[in-house]
Amino acid sequence: MVWFWILLITNESIIMCYAIPGRIEAIKGNRVIVDYFGEKKEAINELKDLSIGDYIYAQGGYVIEKVPSDYALSVLDLWRESFFNLQKLDMSLSSSVLPRDGVDEKLINILDRLIYGGSASRKDIGYILTISDKKSLDYIYKTANFLRQKHLKNSCCVHGIIEISNQCSCACAYCGISSLNQGLRRYKMSVEEAVKVAVDAIDRYGFKALVLQSGEPADKDEFIEYCEAIIQGIRAHKAVFLCISFGEIGLRGLERLYKAGARGMLMRFETSNENLYSRLHPNKMLASRLEHIRYAIELGYLVFTGALIGLPGQTIEDIVEDIFLVRELNAEMYSFGPFIPHEASLLSKASPPDRDMVLKVLAALRFVDYKDARILVTTAFETLDPEARRRGLLAGANSVMLNITPLEYRRLYDIYPDRAWSETGVEEQIESTLTLLQSLGRAPTDLGVR
Ligand code: SAH
Repeated sequence: MVWFWILLITNESIIMCYAIPGRIEAIKGNRVIVDYFGEKKEAINELKDLSIGDYIYAQGGYVIEKVPSDYALSVLDLWRESFFNLQKLDMSLSSSVLPRDGVDEKLINILDRLIYGGSASRKDIGYILTISDKKSLDYIYKTANFLRQKHLKNSCCVHGIIEISNQCSCACAYCGISSLNQGLRRYKMSVEEAVKVAVDAIDRYGFKALVLQSGEPADKDEFIEYCEAIIQGIRAHKAVFLCISFGEIGLRGLERLYKAGARGMLMRFETSNENLYSRLHPNKMLASRLEHIRYAIELGYLVFTGALIGLPGQTIEDIVEDIFLVRELNAEMYSFGPFIPHEASLLSKASPPDRDMVLKVLAALRFVDYKDARILVTTAFETLDPEARRRGLLAGANSVMLNITPLEYRRLYDIYPDRAWSETGVEEQIESTLTLLQSLGRAPTDLGVR
């Protein structure tokens, strides 16, 4: 079998090919159908000169760039054999023959309904979240994995995240970079630094989708100008899907950064329970956060959103509502991760949720949206459980994010303690991710847009 990660060595750089080029099959307005070895995915296209038969890279459901046919064909040639082997492996790991011995009867009935095309109610999801015996838990995860494979095949999104600043004006009760943590050294990368990190990630490592993240700025105007310069700087050099994650930067701020070239926005609503939200976020309102999320969708951003799992005071019913809220928002990607107590935060004495609660939530997200959900395994989950990425990908998830913030800054982006990968170089992260994806039969083809 051709080795899974394919290194194309040019004179100066090593390009990790963990995106596979696709061929344009059809064009319908601003959407195109892309073929990857016979699999069809839809993507949004903003390139003016695209024709049927052209080869492109797509990521995050967006066409990133056109690639010359001879180059695309040579990459596809390298991938061909491994692609079909990966597909076979994924199918064998997500078999529809699920062992039912000793599994909760009511659970079997609920999940059978989903397997045969029905839908899950709030009550069903609430019931699933209370399951605790091992056989039934296994059955939940395997069913979620089966549904993922059946509807979205073995595509897996690999995004990179760059934490451009840890300055923050918020006082969120759980967060280690909140303005209340006065012992933390603050940083803000210069425009040139941020552009260089992004361009390097694209050139050297082949990233096609990047998230730029920071604490929430106090001076929004100044911050928007700074971000415009970064986004335009990156886009002037490179074709890439850029996603912003800066908190509430105002609706005008969202407009300006879309204009500058950002096409994704990552913003969790954290919890859909208004009272809990107000208790955890002094001087903030859930309605305002949701207004940002809804407006970003209206502007055309692909929105990644979700909530924290296991917040003190959060109930199972709250989590069910969180799951149904992302569904109702029709968000492009779901980002749910465990709350992890930070010693310098107001919730330092609280406990994180257990691993199975997080896995149940990932599976439940798959159950409420089995045809389309793009579900992230978060770094917070990997911090809670070193096996989280493998477990999550086998419980309905199909997306991972690598942290490519320079190490000196990554350590200071201290939202919760002992973050997974906080001391791991980018090459090592890529190698470990690709080895894992290979062992699970997952391929880095674009998941397509909803
Ligand atoms: N300013 C941006 C980014 C905030 S940090 C924004 O407002 O969206 C990114 C995410 O880290 C938050 O959305 C939150 O869900 C998560 N986070 C913060 N503190 C955490 C903790 N103690 N445990 C787990 N996740 C945490």
